Amino acid sequence: MFCTNCGKAIAAEVKFCPHCGAAQVPSAQSSAPTPSPTAATQSGPAAGSSGALPARKPVLWAGAVALLVALASAAGYWGWSNKGSDDELVRRLADEEQRRVASEKAAETAEFTAAQALLDKHIAVEEAQAQAHAPAAGQTKGTTRSR
Ligand SMILES: [Zn+2]
Repeated sequence: MFCTNCGKAIAAEVKFCPHCGAAQVPSAQSSAPTPSPTAATQSGPAAGSSGALPARKPVLWAGAVALLVALASAAGYWGWSNKGSDDELVRRLADEEQRRVASEKAAETAEFTAAQALLDKHIAVEEAQAQAHAPAAGQTKGTTRSR
């Protein structure tokens, strides 16, 4: 058969012309022995169903291709947008982690300072007690020394 677009000789079973890339419609080629048009014209009652099938096939193909393209683009967009939101999420998580660590550190230091203050108070109290006891100890020491 010959290409419907450029007219060059091509194999009968090819779907696309190897020279120009035009899609080859078998039913459009009169020289090609395609059974569907002849069967449609020969059988009367079955002509509607058998004739509609080859006509619907390219539509189905186009629909499938369009669906695939839409799915691929949607998946690509989804993946791209997901990647972007993932980056955003990672950044936000890192920020949150940093903030959490900072707050934890702050709480730790607060606890530490509180413990330090408590310890200081304890030390102060002990020192006060020691000072309160010191004269007594000195007195006892003095009394023992004077004895
Ligand atoms: Zn061609």
